[in-house]
Amino acid sequence: PDTVRLLSSSQVITSVLNVVKELMENSLDAGATSLDIKLENYGLDRIEVRDNGHGIKAEDTPVMALTHFTSKIFCHEDLERLETYGFRGEALGSICAVAEVAVITKTEEDDISTQYTLNFTGQIVSQKPSHLGQGTTVSVLKLFKNLPVRRQYYSTTKKCKEELKKVQDLLLAYAIIKPELRLTLIHNKVVVWQKAKVADHRSALVATLGASTVANLLPCHHRQEQPEIVLEGFFPKPGADYSSTSSSNPDKTFIYVNNRPVHHKDIMKLLRQHYTAQYPDDSARNRYPTVMLKITVPPNSVDVNLTPDKTQVLLHNKEAVLTAVEVFLVSLYGYRCN
Ligand code: ADP
Ligand code: MG
Repeated sequence: PDTVRLLSSSQVITSVLNVVKELMENSLDAGATSLDIKLENYGLDRIEVRDNGHGIKAEDTPVMALTHFTSKIFCHEDLERLETYGFRGEALGSICAVAEVAVITKTEEDDISTQYTLNFTGQIVSQKPSHLGQGTTVSVLKLFKNLPVRRQYYSTTKKCKEELKKVQDLLLAYAIIKPELRLTLIHNKVVVWQKAKVADHRSALVATLGASTVANLLPCHHRQEQPEIVLEGFFPKPGADYSSTSSSNPDKTFIYVNNRPVHHKDIMKLLRQHYTAQYPDDSARNRYPTVMLKITVPPNSVDVNLTPDKTQVLLHNKEAVLTAVEVFLVSLYGYRCN
């Protein structure tokens, strides 16, 4: 059974990036407005996420890391109106199977915080009073200590740097969609990146991408009924100098479906096509636009269960969404694909 647990957990928890994502999403689901993410040795020795969210109720702590425990879904219908990032109750338990995990938490009702040490199967093995304020701090030590091949794979300097960049990109994506969020990323005790709480998406874009980039973006809004689709965001102004509104990597194209950062090949393709078609210059063809595109559809028309990391979503009305995006892009850039 230990082997089965290790195997299934290693499929849910695949990288430092993936741990950071799961922990951050738990914090955001807990209503956190402040997040401190600390990594040591690129996260391989330590990943710590501290939030100021609502904390974990004492009665939930014995089960919090047990497989399939979630405080977010109570019945099948809840899945249809999903508003939280998490819903499977798999992350915390799976992390316990591949690392050493401790959780410090305090709710509004608790007088003091408590630190819990968890074992391989997610059970509490010890607990003691702690001194932190309201919220939750999860520390993950020695990631993949029992998966030496994977640990080795992530240990090369090149891989480590790539992962740290991916963590930063992930934080950017959440920083943009959650303006009210205060975020810091610390690596080996050095602040790598931080963002203060700001008022709106535009200010969040300025804080993450810089004022000069945002000066070349246009706020856009497009709404349609039946099926209900709302598109909001910031797009390069038509005709803007492409060196200031795009990059050679897709890392500045931020696409969200119901507030979830996603990778969506077809949407990405459309964005690129319409954006680059404005430029006669061939070198514009391999550029990716700097875009924030927030797509909102009824919760029951998305399936985020496609991949364990929930970065790929299945849109039940994909064609309608693609058409809406296309109509919108045509009105913005005036280019029509065949
Ligand atoms: P899920 O997010 O799918 O519910 P997880 O395994 O990620 O499952 O977390 C299990 C449970 O632990 C959550 O449902 C929640 O009740 C609790 N939890 C985990 N992290 C936090 C946090 N940072 N703040 C408050 N509750 C948390
Ligand atoms: Mg979760």
